[in-house]
Amino acid sequence: MARYYVLLGPPGAGKGTQARVVSEKLGLAHVSSGDLFRENLKNQTELGKLAQSYMNRGELVPDDVTIAMVRDRLQQPDTKNGALLDGFPRTPAQAEALGEMLSQLGAEVNGVPLISVPDEELVNRLSGRWTCRARGHVFHEKFNPPQKPGVCDFDQSELYQRDDDRAETVRTRISVYWNQTAPLIDYYRKCGKLVEIDGNQPIECVTRDLLAALQSE
Ligand code: ADP
Ligand code: ADP
Repeated sequence: MARYYVLLGPPGAGKGTQARVVSEKLGLAHVSSGDLFRENLKNQTELGKLAQSYMNRGELVPDDVTIAMVRDRLQQPDTKNGALLDGFPRTPAQAEALGEMLSQLGAEVNGVPLISVPDEELVNRLSGRWTCRARGHVFHEKFNPPQKPGVCDFDQSELYQRDDDRAETVRTRISVYWNQTAPLIDYYRKCGKLVEIDGNQPIECVTRDLLAALQSE
């Protein structure tokens, strides 16, 4: 039976960092809506052009296009054992749509780890984040530095600082999280799916807690 987990948490909480390791350990596809949008942007698709202005402002891309993009992704063969969703859903409408998509696949959301980190720490994390051009691996100049500055350890591609990681955009993204995404915490808590994880500890400790939570499901 395919299993689906939603990683919830503010921008900079460590969702992408954890999703890469944990999805591989559990044999699940890593589905990151932010990575899908950035891929579309790089390829200058219609979807990428539409998403760009929202992303630059730190606002959410409209639900209808976001939902269609993820629906399509969840039909790809690499999701046959399930997926770890990173950055989706981010609104109540997206959460409803996810429930419907999965029920059409005869599946459901099996668990929702919430990675919590204080807001002031998020700003530190995002302002020092370096992202790889080729496949979106992330590093931090202090907390998780690459072996060679500016170069990805995994595929040697160039590391860059995302435009939306600038301090003023980060503040918008954090407030968008509290206004539009945080209602999902209660939504998933009410149906008994929420698992709280302390994200304010070293990367390996968060991974250990996440794996323990998901493997005890
Ligand atoms: P998200 O996907 O939730 O936005 P990322 O995984 O991209 O977050 O992490 C944001 C930044 O914080 C990256 O630079 C990453 O290297 C760093 N980071 C991730 N987890 C931790 C952690 N537990 N402690 C310190 N820094 C972290
Ligand atoms: P982070 O986790 O660091 O906030 P992401 O890479 O997940 O960043 O998202 C970057 C941007 O992509 C968001 O600020 C938003 O504009 C867009 N985006 C990503 N996922 C969604 C989503 N589920 N709904 C709407 N917009 C999204």
